[in-house]
Amino acid sequence: MLTKAFAAQSATTPFAPHTIDRRAPGPKDVAIEILFCGVCHSDLHTARGEWPGTQYPCVPGHEIIGKVMAVGKEVSRFKPGQIVGVGCMVESCRTCAQCHDGLEQYCDGPIGFTGTYNGPVGGGPNTYGGYSAAITVDEHFVLNINHAEKDLAAVAPLLCAGITTWSPLKHWGAGPGKKVGIVGIGGLGHMGVKFSHALGAHTVAFTTSTGKVADAKALGADEVVVSKDDAQMKKHLNSFDMILNTVAAPHNLDAFTALLKRDGTMALVGAPSTPHPSPAVFNLVFKRRSIAGSLLGGIPETQEMLDFCAKHDITCDIEMIKMQDIETAYARMLKNDVKYRFVIDMASLK
Ligand code: NAP
Ligand code: ZN
Ligand code: ZN
Repeated sequence: MLTKAFAAQSATTPFAPHTIDRRAPGPKDVAIEILFCGVCHSDLHTARGEWPGTQYPCVPGHEIIGKVMAVGKEVSRFKPGQIVGVGCMVESCRTCAQCHDGLEQYCDGPIGFTGTYNGPVGGGPNTYGGYSAAITVDEHFVLNINHAEKDLAAVAPLLCAGITTWSPLKHWGAGPGKKVGIVGIGGLGHMGVKFSHALGAHTVAFTTSTGKVADAKALGADEVVVSKDDAQMKKHLNSFDMILNTVAAPHNLDAFTALLKRDGTMALVGAPSTPHPSPAVFNLVFKRRSIAGSLLGGIPETQEMLDFCAKHDITCDIEMIKMQDIETAYARMLKNDVKYRFVIDMASLK
């Protein structure tokens, strides 16, 4: 099925209209008309060739909300007309221990999980993502959406920004009695603040942008720290159970590890294209602190997060854009000027 999309033809070429071919639904496939797609910093890293391995033309987008157009004959969970979501993965081996545990993002199969965009499929071009009018996905990787129709654009970023913060917060036990820091109040970070607060943790937001202090409180932070201000940072020494670091650029990690209490963990989810300065070992060994990492979230926990959000009326704070405005959106993202996620209205592509 020929499908309208927006693609980058090289790391330095601006996005432009492009036509891609979507497969007709096989027995287990769901064909989806895309209504909204969030704009993740990973889209920018990939399209601009900041991470290795981008294949061009590149059609990013992995925060997809759409309407089912057709389903294969073995599909049981979805029917035409239903509103569904697709996140960062569209396939995995389904047989390894990770897939068995519902953590497909850590798939041990020969190629790991298949990303919704730029994912190798063997032979043909890499996968094309949500900056397009439609997508065909195996039902295993399609999520149920239970939010009200008016909220659908603001639900789209839950499919990456939401699950990528939810998964580590749950894994490291954010909840009542815990002090949790969220570093970087962008697309991921603003959801980290909302989730940490909703899970009952004492939540501290760290930002480099003084203009985001009031917003961070409104998002649910109990305290907000301007991380460039040493005096503000010092007040929190040795006090955090967990810090979730979403920053998209290399920075000094020591300033944050020093804030962890004994046995505390800083989980990195931000994935800058060049390394952070090497962290100081003394900061880690003296209080048995850890620096860890976390990738996306599995399909079962993504559904759990979406259901939690529908029940607790949680959505993302978004600014809607047209597909044609994607270059401006990327430029603003690089200036930390996003409140707090751009979402593309796919009607603009038609
Ligand atoms: P984003 O919306 O651009 O937010 C990143 C935030 O980091 C900025 O808003 C800014 O917040 C802060 N920041 C940026 N540059 C900084 C610097 N030099 N020093 C300190 N803070 C800085 O990006 P995003 O979409 O949330 O993505 C964040 C990162 O996570 C990206 O690298 C992305 O690729 C990665 N990611 C990882 C996963 C995963 O599974 N691990 C999944 C999705 C995305 P303040 O203005 O508050 O300082
Ligand atoms: Zn993402
Ligand atoms: Zn697997």
